[in-house]
Amino acid sequence: MKKPVIAIDGYSSTGKSSISKIIAQKLGIIHLDTGALYRGVTWFALQNCLNEDGSINIQQLFSSFDEIELEFKNNNGELVLFLNHIDISKAIRTNEVSENVSFVAKQKEVRDFLLQSQRSLAEKGGIIMDGRDIGTVVLPNADYKFFLTASIDERTKRRYEELISLGIEANEEQVKKNLIVRDKIDSEREIAPLKQADDAIVIDNTNLSKRETIDSILSYIKNI
Ligand code: C5P
Repeated sequence: MKKPVIAIDGYSSTGKSSISKIIAQKLGIIHLDTGALYRGVTWFALQNCLNEDGSINIQQLFSSFDEIELEFKNNNGELVLFLNHIDISKAIRTNEVSENVSFVAKQKEVRDFLLQSQRSLAEKGGIIMDGRDIGTVVLPNADYKFFLTASIDERTKRRYEELISLGIEANEEQVKKNLIVRDKIDSEREIAPLKQADDAIVIDNTNLSKRETIDSILSYIKNI
């Protein structure tokens, strides 16, 4: 039986990645957190492409793409992101990356740079990919598309707790502000904006636990 291709899009901190990871384990398919790729490029830019005032020199980033090698490695079932052979899985979660990632991700050049590798990973089927434009742009022919949403307060709480659990210093107000700003830039950008695909199933998980959200998604998929 062909394994499914599943697209999960939605607002920041709706649990897309952690939910997708568990669904991938249950269905025996691969999980790709595409947000990690945009964060990886942003981390590279913060290390290598800065103007004197500390802002990102976007032209310098565009001309450095051939120096960027992003790779997920399997570490006991956990996919760990490496940039040029360095484990950056924790570094990409810092506030500095979160504050700059939407600016980097709205650039056409950056999106083009990451598009083909995302698509080729899905060619053989058996993948769940989470992001912002998976159902609309990256995999418009996905077998299943879901769009996750939740209230801003609930999402703030989740992201705050995630940061604390990673040992990253966090302030709830600052986390909330970052989510609002990112959602705005992501939704309003010209190329591949955060948008629900017409044929996506919308799940508002404000009052659902992670388990309940997973069960809801699986209830659509179980017959494949
Ligand atoms: O999923 P996560 O919150 O880690 O994504 C970080 C940022 O990467 C998003 O706010 C968005 O700017 C960008 N992104 C995107 N397209 C995707 C996934 C993430 O533009 N498919």
